Amino acid sequence: MLEARGLVKSYGRTRALTGVSLEIAEGEILAITGPSGSGKSTLLHCLAGIIRPESGEVVLDGRRIDTLPETELTGLRRASFGVVFQFGGLVPELTAAENVALPMLFNRHGRQESMNVAADWLARLEVSGCADQRPGELSGGQAQRVAVARALVTGPRVVFADEPTGALDTLGGEQVMSALIGAARAGRTTVVLVTHDNRVAAYADREIALRDGAVLAEAGR
Ligand code: ADP
Ligand code: ADP
Repeated sequence: MLEARGLVKSYGRTRALTGVSLEIAEGEILAITGPSGSGKSTLLHCLAGIIRPESGEVVLDGRRIDTLPETELTGLRRASFGVVFQFGGLVPELTAAENVALPMLFNRHGRQESMNVAADWLARLEVSGCADQRPGELSGGQAQRVAVARALVTGPRVVFADEPTGALDTLGGEQVMSALIGAARAGRTTVVLVTHDNRVAAYADREIALRDGAVLAEAGR
């Protein structure tokens, strides 16, 4: 369903990706692992259409997306992708519920409908009590569950998560991962997960290990 073909990306003289190819199936939970600096985030950002590779292709449902004009790519990201970053990336001025409603508003849903759907997602992630609080008032684990709700609220085809538990303790990390994976499985949402933590990678169906910008190994679970 989502495919990388020979992705190359450099930052100055640093080759972050040296020719990475992989295929992700509908509903699959894939972990991209590897040490710091191996190219995990760069690969995730290329797949998610956040950055463009300098060569190679990103293909979604048989259609090349890395060459789409910026406005079309933004529209596709908003309609089809959800993202969770290490530090949540919630808007500090908005309440948790407003943060979760935001992607719905970007997709042109009305304010009331967006707030209702946001409330449902906060309940599913067991953070209803945080609805009217701002991100600065939440614990790390609560904030990441709100971020997961925001990533899933539009019913995306793919959720991209970059070290989603990186800022949490073990228990908080487990809660966020079970919430993310449970919701994704229930909706047959594809998940692409970047992590250097084996306990996080253990939630995936398959693992692809990167070293120095290339695929080192691939293993099913
Ligand atoms: P992680 O290892 O958790 O993926 P990094 O610390 O490698 O995160 O990178 C965090 C962010 O900083 C990423 O958005 C990445 O693109 C950016 N980044 C990483 N290395 C550099 C660098 N040498 N110069 C500028 N930005 C960088
Ligand atoms: P990982 O996520 O595995 O830590 P990254 O994709 O963040 O790896 O980084 C891969 C390589 O590219 C590293 O050497 C990193 O320093 C470099 N890099 C990443 N982002 C940037 C950036 N924005 N500017 C310069 N160098 C970067």
